[in-house]
Amino acid sequence: MPFDNKPFRLRRTFLQEEILKLKSQRRAIILSHNYQRDEVQEIADFVGDSLELSRTAATIDCDVILFAGVTFMAESASILSPDKMVLLTEIDAICPMADMIKDFTLRDMKNRYSGIPVVAYVNTTADVKAESDICCTSANVVKVVESLPDERVICIPDKNLALWAARNTKKEVIAWDGFCHVHDRVRPEDVKKARAEHPKALFMAHPECRLEVLEMADHVTSTSGMLRFAKASSEKEFIVGTEIGLMYRLRKENPDKVFYPLREDMVCPEMKKTTLRSLLRALKENNYLIKIPEEIRVPAKRALDRMLMLR
Ligand code: SF4
Repeated sequence: MPFDNKPFRLRRTFLQEEILKLKSQRRAIILSHNYQRDEVQEIADFVGDSLELSRTAATIDCDVILFAGVTFMAESASILSPDKMVLLTEIDAICPMADMIKDFTLRDMKNRYSGIPVVAYVNTTADVKAESDICCTSANVVKVVESLPDERVICIPDKNLALWAARNTKKEVIAWDGFCHVHDRVRPEDVKKARAEHPKALFMAHPECRLEVLEMADHVTSTSGMLRFAKASSEKEFIVGTEIGLMYRLRKENPDKVFYPLREDMVCPEMKKTTLRSLLRALKENNYLIKIPEEIRVPAKRALDRMLMLR
């Protein structure tokens, strides 16, 4: 398998050294989402999921936060760190799922389902968070939905995450028809094939996959949850049901274990738009600056804070 035997680079490239030099001159930190290219993850100060990274950045004494990810992630960093300069590596790196719902379409939905609270996955734009009652992550969606006193809740934008919440709570969940194309393309036949090829491996699935796929998993969890699960498990082989960028950390942190991608085409092209050159350019030119206006930032932060209070 191509992911099993790739050696980790021991020496940094010239470009990586340049980025690190400039980063220190600018008092910047580099955040990399788990789905970024290996060489980007290699020089990041922090690698993780989007909210975890933004929360960490808010606690660090720095002038610049450089986010290697997609737009909504840098927006979250700006929401939580309004006094820092937040840069996104590529301005056209967007999350297609986050863009499946807009603030005005959500307002229409709220009018149709008046009084029903809106749970927004963190994979939404700041505008949409600002229109929502509470945020959730893929790890805590069940807990967030359970925490609301209402019998009916609206879950946006991922229909698969909404179905997962409905399956694990007694609430009626009204879903938006959004999806992540990377996870939604997985079918039960893919799981059967991977299990047949790797009969000893445990199958970990991200809740953005379809419900019929999740029901076949040994463990359903977020990217951070997969890292924890693989590390803690006494098993040695795992089938990974999420974007292949996570393979880098899984393999690096568990050199004695073997990880197989569920499908090798589980690649998010938006996440791969960021290259080392994007990082260097962003630090040199202050591009692309992400700043959320206060009238959006304050209500968006309120929705995030409501979720964080549940932890
Ligand atoms: S992997 Fe899916 S959810 Fe993540 S940025 Fe790409 S499209 Fe969006």
